[in-house]
Amino acid sequence: MSNGEPTNLIDKNMNIPCYVCGASSFSEVLDNNPSMSSDGQIVDLTISKQECSNCGTVRSSDISFLNDFYKNYYKLNVVNNDPVYIFQGEKMLKSEMHLEWITKLVGNRIEDCKSIIEIGCGSGNLLNLFEIKDKYGVEPSEKAAKYASAIAKIRNIGYEEISEKEKYDFIFSSCVIEHTIDPNDFLQKNWHIANDNSIIVIGLPIQDTESFDVYFLDHLHHFTVNQFVYLCQKNGFTVENYEVGYKCMTTMGYFVLRKNATTLSEIKYEKNHNFYASNVWIENLNTFLKQNTSENLVAFGYGETSFFYQSYTQLNSVVNCFIDDVKAKSEENVISVEEAINKNIVKDSFLILLANPHYHEFLKEKFKTVSGLKFYSPFSNKIS
Ligand SMILES: [Zn+2]
Repeated sequence: MSNGEPTNLIDKNMNIPCYVCGASSFSEVLDNNPSMSSDGQIVDLTISKQECSNCGTVRSSDISFLNDFYKNYYKLNVVNNDPVYIFQGEKMLKSEMHLEWITKLVGNRIEDCKSIIEIGCGSGNLLNLFEIKDKYGVEPSEKAAKYASAIAKIRNIGYEEISEKEKYDFIFSSCVIEHTIDPNDFLQKNWHIANDNSIIVIGLPIQDTESFDVYFLDHLHHFTVNQFVYLCQKNGFTVENYEVGYKCMTTMGYFVLRKNATTLSEIKYEKNHNFYASNVWIENLNTFLKQNTSENLVAFGYGETSFFYQSYTQLNSVVNCFIDDVKAKSEENVISVEEAINKNIVKDSFLILLANPHYHEFLKEKFKTVSGLKFYSPFSNKIS
């Protein structure tokens, strides 16, 4: 390196074979700065991804940002991290929807479990809901661990420090494995702390449904169902049940595993379609922005979807007003729907919909009294 520091090979994935299939040939598929982190920030760090030439699994190619990221950037919201989800008019806490899904997949075997450990339990919202007698959790964030301590026996450690002598009836993690450096190591820990009859449930983003998951800086692995099932089998598990997408949680999957060696299924090359879908969405918006410079452009949404577009398109150099009822109180450049309508900000304008397409029709209804307003969705590239 030019600054005289030794190159730290551990920080690079470059010399490590594919965690899924073991092949060593990769092609670089993304290199961008700034990037978007999973806690909803645009960060001044370079995101770089590579695709395994043999099985197609996408992973981060350079993880040297991790120390800097967790020390200086990452802001895990420990206070208000159990938002209300709305699905078909029904309101539900995020934690409740997760539990409903897990219960559906595991069935009544959950009733036989006397102990549960949640790896990466955050503030403990979900762990608290399990009707299992002895609740344990590990959580690397000191602040979150402190919160969770109110509802379970919590240790402020990473999964690596769990002793292999410990055994649990139910081993659970949700959206943790994609953050680990070595997913095989994570699965091995799950294997060692399981009894033969233990239920292991792992939730993670899955690439079989449309999402921009590959554009998250701190998600280091992006598996399809087949790639993840293969990874689990390789580590001595049988996948007993799984499902991708439940209610409004369309981009993740839950997998129910049991410690039981099975014959490895064959792994074939599988393209990460999300990678290419996301690129199309980025291109859509950039082209739209270029073609409509004379229009009054306003954006709807200041959540995850919005940050994706703010990070990876020209949006922020063109649009300076966002509409979002939740963020209107706390962010300077964000206003509420009511304010946007009353102050004529959206009249004779283009409103760019930066929210899950699932909600687009619902959102359009809010603005039905506004004259001359057109809507644009970068997901479908449609004007309406
Ligand atoms: Zn591979």
